[in-house]
Amino acid sequence: MGPRAQGYFNAILKNYRTGALTIITTLLVLVSVNFHSKAHATIRWKMPWPAGFTPQLTQGVHQDGLVGGLLAFDLSLPAGTPVLAPIDSTVVRHCIAQGTDNHRSILLRTRTGQQYSLGHVTTSTVQRSYRQGEQIGVVAPEQHVDDPRCATSTGAHLHFGLPQVPTTIDNQTLTRFSTRGEQLTSTNQRR
Ligand SMILES: [Zn+2]
Repeated sequence: MGPRAQGYFNAILKNYRTGALTIITTLLVLVSVNFHSKAHATIRWKMPWPAGFTPQLTQGVHQDGLVGGLLAFDLSLPAGTPVLAPIDSTVVRHCIAQGTDNHRSILLRTRTGQQYSLGHVTTSTVQRSYRQGEQIGVVAPEQHVDDPRCATSTGAHLHFGLPQVPTTIDNQTLTRFSTRGEQLTSTNQRR
């Protein structure tokens, strides 16, 4: 091999090495991003009420009135308990149950596109977006509500519709088998 051919060969080899390194780096980044988005899907969430309240589940998995497909849980929180955003979210839509003036269901979306709902919430205004821990409203007063397209309820409680089950929030896992009486805690803080 003459010096010229040698130089050309070395150049190809160098390019090949750089190329391989680029491909490997890209793969590692992709794997890492994917891993993180999955891991963060619920790790960043906090329960939608302030630390200090320890409600019980009053109803295990049931369908969401506002959106089909969401799997919801009911929590025994007294009327007036602050309802906090569990994660940075934007509001997709909301409704006021017929026959009430301020008994709402709110559908929200996270930055990663997951949808979830909060029901039986009273608030004078619904913002376009909320930061985690920002107050959305309070648990609605005890009232018989019967509007299948928005909310149905007897007794004060918070309805929390999740994008998937099982879901781990604040180190507690909600599953299809979570039943009445399970006590839940929150690390959410009002901001
Ligand atoms: Zn419910």
